[in-house]
Order: sequence, then structure tokens, then C-alpha cells
Amino acid sequence: MDATATSAPRRVLLAAPRGYCAGVDRAVQAVEEALDLYGPPVYVRKEIVHNKHVVEELRKRGAIFVEQETEVPEGELVVFSAHGVAPSVHANAKARSLRTIDATCPLVTKVHVEARKFAERGYTMILIGHAGHEEVEGTTGEAPDHIVLVQTAEDVDGLRVPEDIPDPNKLAYITQTTLSVDETAQIIARLRERFPNVVSPKSDDICYATTNRQIAVKQLARECDLVLVIGSTNSSNSQRLVDVTREHGTESHLIDNASQVRPEWLEGVETVVADLSDLDRLTELPADVDILVNNAGVQQVAPIEQFPPERFSYILRLMLESPFRLIRQTLPHMYGAGWGRVVNISSVHGLRASPFKAAYVAAKHGLEGLSKVVALEGAPHGVTSNCVNPAYVRTPLVTAQLADQAATHGLSESEVLDKVLLEPVAVKRLIEPAEVAELVAMLCGPASASITGSSFVLDGGWTAH
Ligand code: SF4
Repeated sequence: MDATATSAPRRVLLAAPRGYCAGVDRAVQAVEEALDLYGPPVYVRKEIVHNKHVVEELRKRGAIFVEQETEVPEGELVVFSAHGVAPSVHANAKARSLRTIDATCPLVTKVHVEARKFAERGYTMILIGHAGHEEVEGTTGEAPDHIVLVQTAEDVDGLRVPEDIPDPNKLAYITQTTLSVDETAQIIARLRERFPNVVSPKSDDICYATTNRQIAVKQLARECDLVLVIGSTNSSNSQRLVDVTREHGTESHLIDNASQVRPEWLEGVETVVADLSDLDRLTELPADVDILVNNAGVQQVAPIEQFPPERFSYILRLMLESPFRLIRQTLPHMYGAGWGRVVNISSVHGLRASPFKAAYVAAKHGLEGLSKVVALEGAPHGVTSNCVNPAYVRTPLVTAQLADQAATHGLSESEVLDKVLLEPVAVKRLIEPAEVAELVAMLCGPASASITGSSFVLDGGWTAH
């Protein structure tokens, strides 16, 4: 990469959540454990994960990747990947006396079970997915005579009755787990228009990991000039993240590693940085957001009689007035869309007080009240508002506090952690920022419609006393 093209100061934001989903993680572990337990070679049907680095690492340890089970020598051990396989694959493996480990993700199995149940009840299924993707092949294999693949809204228009759909009153749809949430919603809307009696699965087939990562890149797309997705070109999930970002008007590229970043992509790229205590400038931030997460916080420790009044005003402005202003300017967009999510990162100090933290405790208690009012006003418009209440999170603020207190009390940092900071906490560890992000993502995910006006404590048992 040309160093001059990257020398300008820039902020790099990391999506949260990011990285592999739990299903893929589990499948990779299955291969690693098989290698440890049985030794190489371990055959793996299809790439266990669409990530060249991981595949290469496993290959070095003795995994052999094959396209079909028929390529595996008789009697050998084979792992089926997270995307799932058709029953015919199990039958072939049995016929060849293969020892099998099925690492199919439970969320893919759920779709297979749905397919079998709909077929048993005589339904034709529209499978929304990508032709040739191994998950689609596996799901189709569960009921090949009952499944018609649809890839776009236009495909829905081309469905023929009765050739493709013998009885429009016995029609259901299922989906691949890794699709674009927005595109799939359009296809489903077209299906409902044409076939009003079409039956949906009991719960969304697009999995939470896919949904959450798309929410995360939408958020990034608003804040950044460029979004780089690290993944392989044959990964449906990674490709969808690029698509979703571009649909939100932000340049995005899929890369396998840093060497693929082109210097010209970085020209003129900055990010939005706002001083949230400067209330009048908040109007410069975009108002057309679907999800607003308020997470500003600073601390000042002093007895009330010595607490600087201007510092008290500053903390309340930053931690309470600024969220109020941001909520105020974004609600009209959310109301117009009939959907919105406000998540306020409060704190255990939104629910409990500690001495010498007057401004912080007052601001966080205020945020809790504000959140509840937003919940009540927003409910008729499809907008929810909740608080997340973590105890000590591993942030620069907390690690600096640790170092300060260690120096003040002449203790080691781990002693400060156990005996001072985490004294009232049952689980003696700092909370990782990613754990807070996962909870926020859940509050914005598919199951969040009825969760509002609540406070979610993430405190290792602090408030259990
Ligand atoms: S269904 Fe979701 S969680 Fe499971 S492997 Fe696929 S992307 Fe991962």
C-alpha cells in the first residue's frame, strides 16, 4: 500500500458485533477438535468457513477440503460444514462407511425442519435464496419436490400457477439464513401481494448473526466515508454487508486482507466526529437514523460541597441534554418510518448511587427517566427505548481509574480491581465492550418489538445485593 495515501489522520471505527458468527465458530472448533482427537487427515466437505486464512490454517494442520462426500476415501472421517447438507449427503456418507461429524448450525437445521414439516403438510415452499449456495442446496434437498427457488422480487412475478405452485392456498416461504434483511423483506412483500395466503415460518429464518451485522454496518455507513468488509468473495454474509453499506450510500469493498486495500479508496476519507457537549452543533449530525445509541460518559469524583458547579453542568449537558437533543431530532424520522430503536447506555449508576459521583449519578438517573418517557411516547410509532446498565466496562476511562487508584493506594491494579472497584460485584471481572454491544444489538434485533421502557443490568451481580 502507498504510505502517503494513508498518512492523513483518520478515525477507524470497528463494527460491533463483528467476526464469525457462533455457528461458524462452532464448526471450526469441530474440525480443530477432530484433528486433536483423531489426528490428520480430517476431511471437510466444503469450506468450513468462507475465510481463506482460517481454511489455510486448518489445511496446514491436516484438514483436507473436498467439494463432495464422494471424494472422501471409504471409512475416513468427514466434517459437514455449518451451512448444512441434504439428506442424500448423509446417505452417500453411510454407503461409503464414512465416519461423520455434522457441524450444521442449529439455525440452519431449524430451516431444514421447517422445510420437512411444510412438505409433510402438503405445502409448496418458496425458498428465498441464492442459486448454487450450499445452504440452499442442503435445504432444497430436504423436500426437492416441494421447493421452488426465488432470488429476486422479479422472480416472484414469474411464478406460474399451477406449474410452479399447484395450490396458492397451500403455499409457504422459507429463506436462506444469510440474506439481506431489506431485500428479503421486499421479496416477501411481493409474495404477499401475489399470494395473500402465503404462510411464513414461525420465526425469521435470517439468523440473528446476519441481522445484527447488517444493523452494525448500516450504523457504520452513516458515520464513515468508507466501509471495508474483511471476508471472502464466496461468503454470502460478507457480500451482503457490502451490498447493505452501498445501499446506504457509502462506498464499501470486500477484502481478504490489508494488502488488498487500494490507496485510491482512502483519498478524501474522513469520519464524522462531533463534540456532544456542543449542543448547538448536534443539528449537523444526520437526523434520518433508524437506531440511536447514546453512549457518552465522563466521570468526576468529588464530595458535593466541593463539586465544581461548571463541571456538574458540563456532565449533565454531555450525558443527558445531548441524548435528549439527539432523540428529539431523530424521532420524526423514526416515526415516519414506523420503526426506530433508541438504546441508552446507562450504567449501574442509573439505578444506584455512589458517594462523590453526584453529576454522573444524576445524569444517568435522568437518562433512565428520559428513556422511559421516549418508550411511552414512541410505542404507537413502532419506536422502542431501553437502557443498558453495565457495571465497570473495560474502557479507557476505567483502565485510567485503575491506574490512578493503584498509585493512590499503593496497591497493584489487580488488587484495586478486586478490593476497590469490584468490591460489591459478585463476578470479579471487567465487562468487555463487545458484551455491551451484543446486548445493544439484541435490543435492535428481530425480537425487540415488545421490549421497551426497560433497563438491562449487566453488572456481574452488583445490584443483586
Ligand atoms: S445460520 Fe447464522 S449463526 Fe448459523 S452459521 Fe449461518 S450465519 Fe452463522
